[in-house]
Order: sequence, then C-alpha cells, then structure tokens
Amino acid sequence: MINKVNKTKKKVIAMEAGRYGVYYRLAFPVFNKKGEYFGVFEFGININYILDTFNQNYDFKSILLLKKNIFNIIYENNKNITYSSYSNDYYSIESDINHLCTCKSSTLCSCTTSPVCNCKGNKGCNCMSSTIKDNAPTIIENNDNSNIIFTVSTIKNISNKEIGKVLFIKNLNYYRDTIDMIKHISIISAIILLFLSFYLMKKIFNNYINIINSYQSKLEIKNRTLLKLVNIDHLTKIHNRKSIETILIKELKRAKRYKHKLSVIIFDIDNFKNINDTYGHNTGDKVLKNISKVVTATIRETDYFGRWGGEEFIVISTETSLEKALLVAEKIRNSIYEHDFEEAEKVSCSIGVAQFTSEDTHQTIVHNADTALYQAKNSGKNKVVAYNNIVSY
Ligand code: GH3
Ligand code: MG
Ligand code: MG
Repeated sequence: MINKVNKTKKKVIAMEAGRYGVYYRLAFPVFNKKGEYFGVFEFGININYILDTFNQNYDFKSILLLKKNIFNIIYENNKNITYSSYSNDYYSIESDINHLCTCKSSTLCSCTTSPVCNCKGNKGCNCMSSTIKDNAPTIIENNDNSNIIFTVSTIKNISNKEIGKVLFIKNLNYYRDTIDMIKHISIISAIILLFLSFYLMKKIFNNYINIINSYQSKLEIKNRTLLKLVNIDHLTKIHNRKSIETILIKELKRAKRYKHKLSVIIFDIDNFKNINDTYGHNTGDKVLKNISKVVTATIRETDYFGRWGGEEFIVISTETSLEKALLVAEKIRNSIYEHDFEEAEKVSCSIGVAQFTSEDTHQTIVHNADTALYQAKNSGKNKVVAYNNIVSY
C-alpha cells in the first residue's frame, strides 16, 4: 500500500494482512507547505475490532475466516493464539468455530455453512470443506428447530486477492419469539375485544329492551284505559250496554256449564221524563249518576251492573236464585226510593227479575226480565215483579 502511495501520490484504502492480523488500512500522501511530497501517513484498524464492535452493537455473530497463507503469517508472529480449522482453505482465530457444525449423533454431523462435517465422536463436529457463496443470505434450520441466517463476504487486499471471509450469523429465534409474542398479544386483544363488544352489545341491547319495556307498559296502561273507556258508560261510569251484554253472554255460558244459578234484574226509573221536564236534562243526568252510585253500593261485588239504555239499568246476579234476586231487587228499589236526591223529589223505579233456565239465551232472559218489568210498570210502578218461569235443576 505504501509503495502504491509513493508511486501514485494518491490515497489508498484497502484490507491488508499484517503480522498481527488483518487490518482495514488507510494510506495517504503527506506534502509539506511548499507542496513537496513528504511521505505516507498510514492508519489501520484491526478487523477483529470492527467485527467485535459490530457484534456488540447489532446482536450479530461475525466470524473472520482467513486464508491459510494469510493465517500462517499471523501465526508465525503469535504462536500462542488459538485457532480452528474451518476447512482445508480457511482458519479462524476463534476457538468455538465448530458450533457451526451440529452433532446429530456421535457419527452424524451437519454443518451449517459447509456440506461436509467431520465427526469427532464425543468432542463434536468439524467442518471439512466449504462451499461458501458470497453475499447470498441463507436461512438454515438447526436440529433444535431454531433458525439462523448467515451471509458470507469476501475480504480482498489491494491486489484484489482474497485474504479471507467474514461470516455474519444472526439467530432468528429472537424474531420468532417476537412474532410469537405479537401473535399471542393479537389473540388476547381479539378475545378482549370480543368480550368487550359482547358486553357493549348486551348493554345496548338491554337499554333497548328497557326502552321497549317502558313503552310497552305505557302502552298497556293506555290500552287498559282505552278498554275501560270502551266498556264504561261515560255518564254513570258503570258498564255500558255492549260491555254488560258481553258479560251476560259469558256468565250464562259459565252458569250453563257448571249448572250455577243466575238471575237478571232490570229496572227502569219511574216517570223519568217528568224529572227531565221539571228540573232539566242536566239534573236528570245527575239523578242517573246518583242512582248508579246508590245501586253500586247496594249490590254485591260479584254482581255486574250496567246501563241498558236511557234510564234503564241491568244487574247480573251470579250464583243467585230468583228468590234471592227478588231480595236484591227489593233492596235496589228501596235504596233508590229512600235515597234523598238533592236534585229532585222522590225517585222510584220499577224492577223485573228473571232467573236463568237451561233453555235461555241472553236475549230470552233479558226479554223475560223486561216482561216482568213491564208488569211492574203496568201494575202501579215502584215495585218488583218476578218472571215466574223457573226450571228447577
Ligand atoms: P215510565 O215510568 O213509564 O218509565 O216513564 P218514563 O218517563 O220514565 O219513560 P219514558 O220512556 O217516557 O221517558 C224516558 C225518558 O228518559 C226520556 C228520555 O229523554 C230520558 N232519558 C233517556 N236517557 C237520558 C239521559 O241520558 N239523560 C237524561 N237526562 N234523560 C234521559
Ligand atoms: Mg222510565
Ligand atoms: Mg225507559
């Protein structure tokens, strides 16, 4: 290198094998102030130092293999160095180079970077020859399923002659571990996300269910109110004609099926037209309301009370014979007659009572009670008359 600088007076950079190893060397010409050639400045870094620094900082393993002739120069000056024969052509100033060979059994070796391994029995393996390809990264799976990647670079001197090679080795297990870790984290994250979304969905779903439930209960209340309005007479607040008729049909069926007694009481206010005519329609309305209250207070809770039309009312007395129904009717008549209506003078009513027979329909029993009522009206009003057509069970 110095000769070349002396000749060319130009900077030279090259690898050079010296007595103490292989150096990365810089040699450049030095001139004095007058511009006269002064000599050569030479600077070198031992390649082992570079490789060590590289190994430490980049988590690589790099091994310097020297050509046999180059190695001999170093060895002559440093007899105490340890070295390993990597192949017939290469040596390494490393004692553990044989780890590139793995011993599968005492007689079978596999060489990471060389196809031929020499088995040394219990002492391990030794690589014998090399088919090293430059700058071709190769991935190799070891016996323990770990992977390594290695690359080989040739080192040449200033004359472009090979002086050795550098093996760069990287254990890929680090990446495998990292990939495994990422995989695990991804799976755990996916599970957590799944649970979270389930939880959120449940919450949202529950919220909707609560909203729907509250709407439903509001709707039910409205429906019940509506149903009441549909079935209740707006003036007297008792069952209207449609509702009491439906109840009558149902109760007649029940009485027929279980052979229960049932009586129908129909009453009509006497001379109601006079009340209207004397006190006005509004007062007549109030009287009708009060009559409803008086009768509701008189009958049993199990009886049904409804407005049949105008000033005509009906009581369905369940589980009640004609005799008992006549007593109820008398109580109704009396309670109206005895009631002190603030709005009008004495109010009376005429009542017809009929007991259900097995032949009866809702129409015939009402008709029978009505016939009795007609008789009551015709025989002087303010009285109770029974429709005597009873079939005994
Ligand atoms: P009777 O003793 O024969 O039953 O005579 P009445 O006057 O009660 O019978 P009528 O059928 O002649 O008259 C019934 C009257 O009841 C006629 C009608 O204007 C009145 N009326 C019917 N519904 C209502 C109502 O909702 N309010 C009021 N104030 N009057 C009503
Ligand atoms: Mg009347
Ligand atoms: Mg009438």
